[in-house]
Amino acid sequence: MPLLGKWSHGLSGTRAAHALGSPAPGTSNPSPSPPAPAPDVSMRICGAPGCNSGWLKPWKSRRRPVFEHEWGCSARCLQVIVASAVRRELGDGAETQPDQPHRHRVPLGLVLLAQGWITHPQLQAALAAQRASGEGRIGDWLIRHTGLPEDRIARGLGVQWNCPVLALEGFSPRAMALVMPKRFVTEFGLVPIRVAGSTILYVAFQERMKAAAAFSLEHMSGLKVESGLLTTTLLDSARRRLLDAEAVPSHMRVVADCDELAGAVAKLLDQKQPVESRLVRMHQYYWLRMWMEEGAIPTTGSLPTSAQDVEDQVFMIE
Ligand SMILES: [Zn+2]
Repeated sequence: MPLLGKWSHGLSGTRAAHALGSPAPGTSNPSPSPPAPAPDVSMRICGAPGCNSGWLKPWKSRRRPVFEHEWGCSARCLQVIVASAVRRELGDGAETQPDQPHRHRVPLGLVLLAQGWITHPQLQAALAAQRASGEGRIGDWLIRHTGLPEDRIARGLGVQWNCPVLALEGFSPRAMALVMPKRFVTEFGLVPIRVAGSTILYVAFQERMKAAAAFSLEHMSGLKVESGLLTTTLLDSARRRLLDAEAVPSHMRVVADCDELAGAVAKLLDQKQPVESRLVRMHQYYWLRMWMEEGAIPTTGSLPTSAQDVEDQVFMIE
């Protein structure tokens, strides 16, 4: 939501009416009330629920920090706003929002068999080799045993998971390195590939992408996230190139619990005074992104255009 939309948020009720010079309720006025004047843009409303003091303050004297479009009139109110976001992210986690239920998926070997890309004896031999070694994915064993091209495995997985197989066309490591902390690329095997039409972010994964991770990335980027497969070779290459590019500066911190997390985020916002910031959970991590200057926030989506004026802080609860 644009900031302007928030300026008028909550401008109802007695206090707002007084503040804006409208007649207070109770001073009977049979004729319809005149429309409330537009809020003075020099005013900023505290976003903390239940804030009683200083709910309207001169915008100019303290307009930062902003957290998820909300502004807190004091350190205490800021912490109330942040704590509510922490609770939200805690409830959004993968544990409480299961991915696709464990539907019965056709085994990859059978998908490839049905496509006519391998024969039954080839599948039996690959399965036997996988069993004997006790490790490795069936796709890798098939490639090794039958010389099956890698893209056939990716296409087979695409059928199995009902998701697209992506290409690397349009991949800009420089732009994509700014999408999220590199930690998520190395740990979760997710590689952002490109933005299409300023609205869709394509993210590649090797085996699967958890719905909760896609949801978090959507909240952070303001883009619709579409995930798809890449062949192992292309994914490795994209990952390597992305990791070589400059990312948004990122710091890691371990906290004891949710209260400490909310306190640490609020304190950081107070120190850094970002013009916008957001918090999302990525599996076990809580990722705070802070935009330090207005110019750092693009108009469509919220992908940074450079590593400047944006900062990431990643938290983990012990
Ligand atoms: Zn307040």
